[in-house]
Parts: sequence; C-alpha cells; structure tokens
Amino acid sequence: MAGLSIERARKRFGDVEVLKGVSIDVADGEFAVIVGPSGCGKSTLLRAVAGLEDLTGGTIRIGARDVTGLGPSERGIAMVFQSYALYPHLSAYDNMAFGLRIAKASKAEIDAAVQRAAEILNIEALLDRKPAALSGGQRQRVAIGRAIVRKPQLFLFDEPLSNLDADLRVRMRYEFAELHRALGTTTLYVTHDQVEAMTLADRIIVLRDGRIEQAGTPRALYERPANLFVAQFIGAPR
Ligand code: ADP
Ligand code: MG
Repeated sequence: MAGLSIERARKRFGDVEVLKGVSIDVADGEFAVIVGPSGCGKSTLLRAVAGLEDLTGGTIRIGARDVTGLGPSERGIAMVFQSYALYPHLSAYDNMAFGLRIAKASKAEIDAAVQRAAEILNIEALLDRKPAALSGGQRQRVAIGRAIVRKPQLFLFDEPLSNLDADLRVRMRYEFAELHRALGTTTLYVTHDQVEAMTLADRIIVLRDGRIEQAGTPRALYERPANLFVAQFIGAPR
C-alpha cells in the first residue's frame, strides 16, 4: 500500500484550464472521496492520476515514487469507471484473470487471486458466466474484481455506481465500505452523489471549477462548511 500525493495539478484543454492547481494528499489506507458538480474536473484529475491524461503542470506521487511521467501500467494502480467495459466474449473468471495473464502470472497465482476476489465480492457462483448473463450489479462486481486481483497500491473509482438503479446503488455503497475494510487499499473515489460521499469517505474533497473549495472529514464539512457552496453541496444547515 501507499499514499497518494497530488501537488498543484494543472490541466489545460486548448484555452480552457480544467484543473487550476489542485493539491490532494491521501494517507496510506485512507478512503478519500472527490465530490463536485458535473464538469468540475473530477474525471480529468482521476485520469491524470491513472496516467491516462498528461498534466500541464504539477506532480503526482504514489508512496515515495514520483509517477508524473510514467505510463498507466507503471503506476501500480487499478481504476474502475462508470462504464465498466467487460470483455463480452470472456467469462467473469477470464475477465478478472485477463490482466494477470498479460502480466504472466502463474495459473495457480491467477486462480488464487480470482477466487479470493470472487469471495470478497460474493460472485463465486457466477464465475463461468459471460457478461450478457449477469445483472448490472453483478457486472460491476466483476469490474471491481478485475481491479482487486491486481493487488494495486491505489484504487481509483470514477462514479462506479452511477449507472446502477437506486436500490442497487445503496447496496453497493455498503459493499465498497466492506471492500475497504477487507483490503485497506488506499482509495480515491469520485462521485457527484453527496450521500455516497458522506457514507464512504474518511475524507471528502470538494472540487468546483478546477479548484478545491474544502477538504476534510465528512463531519467537519457538515459542521463547518467553508462557504455556501460547500454547505449546499454537502447538504449542511447554514
Ligand atoms: P467531471 O468528471 O467533473 O464531470 P471532467 O473532468 O470530465 O469533469 O471535465 C472537466 C471539463 O473538461 C469539462 O468542461 C469537459 O468538457 C472538459 N474536458 C474533459 N476532457 C476533455 C478533452 N479531452 N478535451 C477537451 N475538453 C475536455
Ligand atoms: Mg466525470
């Protein structure tokens, strides 16, 4: 495991500066949640941490390692997106094993990792099924399983529940909490759902228009919002 440190991250697309000097520290084993309205730069920031987007300025460290210039596969991270594209022709098992096979893990290693992830996610009985034979929630579990088996130092989740219906979203929220209890992996989780943030986060980072408005524990933000925007976004009385 390792913490994450983002220092003065800037990102420009053409004339538009989407990240305007964002600094975030996530402690080793911490579950940090970025919230903010649509278009404020959440996905861009996560993609930059994953190495899928080059920053215009700033530094990203995972543990003691400066990963700013490194490619996605060199960063020791695993990312789960909102649209958790699984390989349709592969079984749940093979979807989860895919990355490990590419990394040339042994058959025994792969089997142990997939079985363990399946156990944590409660999908042991579904491993033979192809994505078309799984429900939305089950598919999302497989996508998370695919991230778990790689034993990353850092999990990145970009609105992983936003494609699920309301009931399932609530249930999966608890499963993320369980997952974190079981593995303790440092996590940066993006959502635009305040309740999800309040439920899951050790620490919430409120992003607005490419800048951090406030960062703190859910309780601190609720009780002492820095401004009206945070108060309204968190739903705190003010
Ligand atoms: P969020 O995830 O918070 O909804 P994004 O990070 O996706 O926000 O986007 C932030 C802003 O950057 C938006 O205005 C979006 O249109 C813009 N943007 C994102 N990706 C690109 C891109 N590849 N090229 C140009 N503009 C982009
Ligand atoms: Mg987004």
